[in-house]
Amino acid sequence: MKIIKYVFITLIVIALLGFLLIQNHAVQDRLFKNVVNEILSSTSNEIFLDDALSVAVCGSRAPLPSPNRAETCLLVQAGTSKFIIDSGEGSAANLQSWGIDFTDLEALIISHLHSDHISDVPEIQFQTWLGGRKEHLPVLGPVGTASTIEGFRLAYELDASYRSEHHGNILPLEAYGYDVVEFDGDSTIIFENKDTKITAFRVDHHPVDPSYAFKVEYKDRSMVISGDTVALDVMVEYSKGVDVLLHEALAKPLIQSMEKVTDESGNKVLSKVLFDIQDYHATTVEVAEIAKKADVNLLVYYHLIPAPRNYVSEQMYVRGVGEIFSNYYVSDDGTLVSMPAGSDDILIDTIN
Ligand SMILES: [Zn+2]
Ligand SMILES: [Zn+2]
Repeated sequence: MKIIKYVFITLIVIALLGFLLIQNHAVQDRLFKNVVNEILSSTSNEIFLDDALSVAVCGSRAPLPSPNRAETCLLVQAGTSKFIIDSGEGSAANLQSWGIDFTDLEALIISHLHSDHISDVPEIQFQTWLGGRKEHLPVLGPVGTASTIEGFRLAYELDASYRSEHHGNILPLEAYGYDVVEFDGDSTIIFENKDTKITAFRVDHHPVDPSYAFKVEYKDRSMVISGDTVALDVMVEYSKGVDVLLHEALAKPLIQSMEKVTDESGNKVLSKVLFDIQDYHATTVEVAEIAKKADVNLLVYYHLIPAPRNYVSEQMYVRGVGEIFSNYYVSDDGTLVSMPAGSDDILIDTIN
């Protein structure tokens, strides 16, 4: 009993001393310096394998809000070439906090012009400019991209001039802005070098037209990224035998339950939106059927509608999926899938 009393008093004394120490400015300065050093030295670049096709999920949700998730974004690395496919709200902050250097981006690729796929485009422009980009940011997107991007350029023109004037030659005005190339047609090769090929193919996200999916091939590895679309045979066709299919998906059990609750609570606007969105997305079960028909090695769900928030909604999100296709993964922000060249390995990791 005496010992317990002694230990208790010692702990209180230590806690008090700690509290007093932390009030000291020199101690605060020292601790804060350590935190800054830690942030500056943390880089996730080394987790990308040099000779591999990799994809990091920099935004896993659709517009419906969910804590700790950004709107749609995928960072693709093929060998040493980097691409960002879509950049919705919060995704640029994810990339920044992970310490990933994407200044040397080959291109920012846009699947379609819904806000949850483009709202962080000005941030990507800014971060790569601040990172030392010497020319305009290359952007590839469907018809309509040029005028949308010109709107972004104009909206941030004054901001750019203020920053350039303030910081001098680390932010040269001639490098501010975008270099847009639009693509169209049912199927178009939008990027090609010695080892890498990216093909855009048209999907159905009516009334959003055009909307594109992408097949990315690097050496002997490949993946398909759906963008936003209903379930389509063309997705099966392009995904035949690929290593990884990343597909958007709407979970009917969750959305229909939300629709019912919002309707009963009198929120007619949200209830109508929740009803309407069901006709232009693929369901989780339909996506599993696509993965099965295409015989892909791994199915990764992204652009989660809605993103599950707890164990119960996670179970409801994938209800019926396992019976159709068992090798699936529901992504989070930070999910990293790597496919080393010259092997059949598919590695799943998480960036923190
Ligand atoms: Zn979307
Ligand atoms: Zn969309």
